[in-house]
Amino acid sequence: MPYQFDKQSHRYRDAETGRFVKVAEVMRFVDQEVNRTEVRLKGHARLLVQNKIDVAEFQTRMALTLKESHLRVAAIGAGGVKQFTPSHYGKIGAQLKKQYKFLHGFGLDLADGKLTSEQAVRRAGSYAKSARTSFFQAEFTSRDKYNFYVKRLLDVQSRHCGSCISYQRLTWTPVKDVIAPGVDCECGGRCRCRLLYQKRTYAGMRL
Ligand SMILES: [Zn+2]
Ligand SMILES: [Zn+2]
Repeated sequence: MPYQFDKQSHRYRDAETGRFVKVAEVMRFVDQEVNRTEVRLKGHARLLVQNKIDVAEFQTRMALTLKESHLRVAAIGAGGVKQFTPSHYGKIGAQLKKQYKFLHGFGLDLADGKLTSEQAVRRAGSYAKSARTSFFQAEFTSRDKYNFYVKRLLDVQSRHCGSCISYQRLTWTPVKDVIAPGVDCECGGRCRCRLLYQKRTYAGMRL
């Protein structure tokens, strides 16, 4: 990315023009990374259904690809790997642990012959989107460090899962008191929930 991270605003700037990079543009990078990961995960499943690797090897490759992807996507959310704190790593680790648990169940279903080749490939690809959660969590973790407040709003135009509706915050709330999109949510953050950020100092004064 020809972008520089601005810690104070917690946003990226175009290195040449100095302009802020739009949120949609940053999300495009996240989506590209998720799409690339989906291709890789499906590739692992194809090798498995062609009997070129066994279930154990498949699970190892899936876990590694997911770990790399979560780290890359979280780095985008945090403003670069240099911004990572132990808290970032802890959150990424927790998300990965969840995915590894699903992967364990996936392995059992494969070993039991419960899935067609097509189903196995599709299911492998579905893990890719989990990295979006690490993006939002990393951003929340960083912004919490810099005392940001957040509003989490539903997009009236689109449908929402039940969890998203309960996580809505219409008033400025400390980041640490708001659930990041995708966390404990049926939609996995693949929704149109909107985040607005504002920096505050003592006594609710705006900077
Ligand atoms: Zn949701
Ligand atoms: Zn949502």
